[in-house]
Amino acid sequence: MLSPREAVRTLPSYHPPLAGRDGLRLDFNENTVGCSPRVLERLRQLGPEQLASYPEREPVEAKVADILGVAASDLLLTNGVDEAIHLLCATYLEPGDEALIVVPTYSMYRIYLMAAGAQVISVPAGKDFHFPADDVCNRITACTRLIAIANPNNPTGTVAPAADLLRVARSAPDAAVLVDEAYFEFYGQSMLGARNEFSNCFVARTFSKAYGLAGLRIGALVGDEDQMRAMRRVCSPYNVSAVALACLPEALGDQDYIQQYVTWVRESRARLERALEASGIQFWASQANFVLARVGPASSFVEQMRRRGILVRDRSDDHGCGGCVRITLGPREHTDRLLTALHETCEELGIAQGASRR
Ligand code: PMP
Repeated sequence: MLSPREAVRTLPSYHPPLAGRDGLRLDFNENTVGCSPRVLERLRQLGPEQLASYPEREPVEAKVADILGVAASDLLLTNGVDEAIHLLCATYLEPGDEALIVVPTYSMYRIYLMAAGAQVISVPAGKDFHFPADDVCNRITACTRLIAIANPNNPTGTVAPAADLLRVARSAPDAAVLVDEAYFEFYGQSMLGARNEFSNCFVARTFSKAYGLAGLRIGALVGDEDQMRAMRRVCSPYNVSAVALACLPEALGDQDYIQQYVTWVRESRARLERALEASGIQFWASQANFVLARVGPASSFVEQMRRRGILVRDRSDDHGCGGCVRITLGPREHTDRLLTALHETCEELGIAQGASRR
């Protein structure tokens, strides 16, 4: 009888909702207002010929590389960062190899690593989710072949200092070290430049978050030219759709739009953090477009918020995140609605006194 591979049979499943996300979506760290109008304009111009032809990735890859200040040969456009992680696993992991992640972190790392048959070593983050550089370096062995680090991290919003990331890359020359910068725009610091020193270091970016294109599925992976050549062998030549390729230059061309959105998110983040502080709810200072907060009864909280039209994410099963929810930020009017619902929910559940609506 047909049976999936052992590694697949024992995989934990990750179940984001694939239907029915009605309400203000503050649960998956997307852009809450959508992409630049220039992208929509470009979409309207697409004709049957573009949809009938296989996509041509190279010219857009060259444009994106130019904007990021890297050589085109160092960059691969991917079907979101998810595909980049998948490709790294397919390129570098043999069954039984060791792979390191720092927990809590993005759920898909573990799934792709395990699916490839790797032995996943989870290094717990330090107090207040500090990046445990010493512990990571101590767990590197001759069998370590992949290390995945989200910076800023999801679901915590915390960041690892560049020096720590470089130290990890230096300590694991035989491992692919992925620095996943899905939330780069909200933080502003990147390892793109420093990566040149280390041929084992990769940086991933996505257009799903600040750019508001999660539905198009497009991201970029940057690495050493020789390594990227190997990755291209594994990758489908048509991994990114013609629609995404047509839209991406418009999205990248409208940097004012991105800057405006990032400014709104930063203001909203500060506002939510002030409200949580005033309510006595524990949270962790975030460099991303979301905040992790320990509300206590997380599933009731999510349900009460949902009844008020606001979707937030229960992260209480993540390592060290008991009682925590993750809340995505958008512009002011979304934060007004969020804080009203937060205030009411806290009162209803007796979570904290006097949630502020500032
Ligand atoms: N990396 C991190 C750290 C994320 O939080 C997410 C989305 N939740 C992704 C990657 C996936 O991004 P994409 O939509 O580009 O696949």
